[in-house]
Amino acid sequence: MNNGKICVSVCAETADEFIGNIKRAAEFADVIELRLDCLESKQIHKTFALLSSEKPLLLTYRPKEQGGKKELDYFERVGFWNAFVADGLLDLRKFWIDCEFDLKSETSNLKFRKIVSFHNFSTVPENLNEIYENLSADSEITKIAVQTDDAADSIAVWKLLGKAKAENKKIIPIAMGASGKWTRILGLAHGAFMTYAALDSGKETASGQIAAKDLIETYRVKELDENTEIYGVVGNPVSHSASPEMHNAAFKFHNLNAVYIPFEVKNLGEFVKKFIRKETREVELNFRGFSVTIPHKRAIIEYLDELDEAAEKIGAVNTVKVADGKLFGYNTDAQGFIEPLKIACGNLSKAKVAILGAGGAARACVYALKKESADVAVFARDVKKAKALAEEFDASFADLKFQISSFKNFDVLVNATPLGAKGKLENELPVSAKQIEPVKLVYDLIYNPSETRLIKEAKKANVPSVCGLAMLVEQGAKQFEIWTKKAAPMKRMRLAASEKLK
Ligand code: NAP
Repeated sequence: MNNGKICVSVCAETADEFIGNIKRAAEFADVIELRLDCLESKQIHKTFALLSSEKPLLLTYRPKEQGGKKELDYFERVGFWNAFVADGLLDLRKFWIDCEFDLKSETSNLKFRKIVSFHNFSTVPENLNEIYENLSADSEITKIAVQTDDAADSIAVWKLLGKAKAENKKIIPIAMGASGKWTRILGLAHGAFMTYAALDSGKETASGQIAAKDLIETYRVKELDENTEIYGVVGNPVSHSASPEMHNAAFKFHNLNAVYIPFEVKNLGEFVKKFIRKETREVELNFRGFSVTIPHKRAIIEYLDELDEAAEKIGAVNTVKVADGKLFGYNTDAQGFIEPLKIACGNLSKAKVAILGAGGAARACVYALKKESADVAVFARDVKKAKALAEEFDASFADLKFQISSFKNFDVLVNATPLGAKGKLENELPVSAKQIEPVKLVYDLIYNPSETRLIKEAKKANVPSVCGLAMLVEQGAKQFEIWTKKAAPMKRMRLAASEKLK
């Protein structure tokens, strides 16, 4: 447990919508931020006339260049605050104000509880310490929010927590952007005064904000402390991943003081150096392990101390355990892939399996199938890659582009390409509907959407299918067991992942 607060940021153009949002925010918030710059000017007085809240209300009137919705010059902003006070609309006990750093002295006569804030929406300024010193010199609460592009960039703003703690000051350090989400999740556990949350996902008022419900129910941010074990998914991008929901549900089930966080990482070496390795790390986060995803599954190997047999043979790692100052690499994709297939097909010895794709997932599939003595053929658009993979594991190969007329000689067809995945490729089929008719089972590794076009076509053709969610949960369960040595609550994990995918 920690003492930090959750501030839900509310933005709407009309008074009625604003008031409705405030009521909804109260369910999760300790403080509600009223982004008055979102309101149409004529709606501001109406909003205050309707306003009532048990929770403290933080008033913010931000100009566009500091992340607000309105073009406001300096004088308009000073005039705005003074007019409010003159109108007598503001009850000192109920309202807090957020004034941007350039209004610090002009608002010093306003006797509200005050946050002095600094925002940089393009980068992390080099003189962050100086900015902090200036802001915190004579203000009760300092907020510093900077835009980051890689997880390691956000360390500079995070380090201000240590400075503020040493000086017994209140600070809200935020790294904006997907790569800074960890600062929003872990801030309260490490002494941040407050963390900001969106009312709903899709209603963020700053980049990287997380919905309040998710901060509380998925990440349990108020229950975390400095001893919390940290796990996460390291990749780029990671915002689509259902792994945080899945693993956090498992931690909650076992009542573990642990959290699983998305880490958007471009420079993998910097991440390992600055977050993980005891000798070089710059933050103390009690890291115990992480999942590795696109594009780092192969690249991570050079940073590890040991590999398990599957990771070694596949040449890719999706799971890292951090213990006794060492990094151990595992591949749970192979097992995660094969278990649902064995449940659907039984014995796979001599089963004829066609794999579409020759990337990291395909490698794990071929490895796992060969261990079961299946007869495997790799089909890829890059025939050289297909050949190399096939030769390594004693499989056959073909060019996906030649489009064999049907897969009548195969029992199972596995899609290990991204064709059909959410986004640009969602309506694509890796092979035609006609081609899959003769197979006995279609297995699509894609889990988002949970029912891909390929699975829909299989259903139409009365061909049984297995979807990628089964593999996601299975490989995640193996990860959970490696990290915690506890039985993975698979039903809970599956439910949490499928809820996210809805
Ligand atoms: P990857 O290493 O990038 O490999 C992708 C493969 O698909 C490569 O052979 C690539 O060919 C091929 N490909 C890409 N675009 C294509 C296109 N437009 N047409 C034909 N082939 C194309 O990715 P991965 O890690 O193997 O992942 C593949 C899929 O499996 C992803 O959708 C991923 O989400 C899914 N997956 C699911 C799970 C799970 O738990 N359910 C686990 C792992 C992966 P080139 O080499 O020529 O680009």
